[in-house]
Amino acid sequence: MESVVERYLARIESGCLPLGAGVVADYIPELARVDPDRFAVSLVVHDGHIYSVGDSDTQFTIQSISKALTYALALRECGVDVVDATIGVEPSGEAFNEISVDHSTRRPRNPMINAGALTAAALLIRPETMPTAPTTRQEWAPHLDAAFARILDFYSGCAGRQLSMDAAVYRSEMATGSRNRAIAYMLQSFGVFPPHPQATVDLYVRQCSVRVTSDDLAVIGSTFANGGVNPRTGRRMVDGQIARRVLSVMTTCGMYDGAGDWVTSVGLPAKSGVGGGILAVLPGQLGIGVFSPRLDEHGNSVRGVRACRLLSEDLGLHMFTVA
Ligand code: GLU
Repeated sequence: MESVVERYLARIESGCLPLGAGVVADYIPELARVDPDRFAVSLVVHDGHIYSVGDSDTQFTIQSISKALTYALALRECGVDVVDATIGVEPSGEAFNEISVDHSTRRPRNPMINAGALTAAALLIRPETMPTAPTTRQEWAPHLDAAFARILDFYSGCAGRQLSMDAAVYRSEMATGSRNRAIAYMLQSFGVFPPHPQATVDLYVRQCSVRVTSDDLAVIGSTFANGGVNPRTGRRMVDGQIARRVLSVMTTCGMYDGAGDWVTSVGLPAKSGVGGGILAVLPGQLGIGVFSPRLDEHGNSVRGVRACRLLSEDLGLHMFTVA
């Protein structure tokens, strides 16, 4: 029998489906092949129960939402001091793929733009643990594979099921990702990360190509809402300090250059991706996953933003609401 929550989500769906604005990302050719009309919303409440509506079992690539997860994993593996020494936490107000770093520190401004996300991925390759840094692509390969295996295990643990990579999207972005290569080489020239820009870009593109559903995003969100413990499996993925930090950075930097508008109107920590996904979190209570591929001018899902706005208004989720 349909629950009250599911009936409510069906109302959200009918409030969003008429929106036909926005365009599917096509700068990665394979992304242009998705069905633009797909739509799904999932909620995971504090006991781990999943409520969803629409195409909640359709898989799509996580894209930039991965940035929040890899940042969390870098904090877990390398510690706050090492991560802070290489990546800032200041909003940049710039597009996600801007070729930019902070002028005085020469660090990427935050982990939610590509410069910072590439740096977080580079930290996971951990060349400092190697007796001598590999030089060729072949020599890097096993380190890259090991880092990606840990990334996939971490994302899967947060989602509560085994995730996998979409090889076609990976190949498509590797074939066209000159901008990310440019950013990686720029960072190398600033001494931000060790001499493996190609391996770093490869790892970052693999993480962006991980397939998820809106249910997965909601479970991942609930893991962070729950202080780092997946409420469905009971597995601790990060400690409470890391969960808090990731949510803080998502609040200020998670929605591309539309972050200010998002915080004002929706008021939830969130991260979106050009695959059409949005992950949002109500700390202590709720994980939200939304999927709809048509994007606005900032790169955020048009219907996804509408769905989150409606949820926030109807349920009073804005984090600065005073009861
Ligand atoms: N793979 C994408 C890129 O770096 C992620 C973009 C996004 O979702 O914002 O270009």
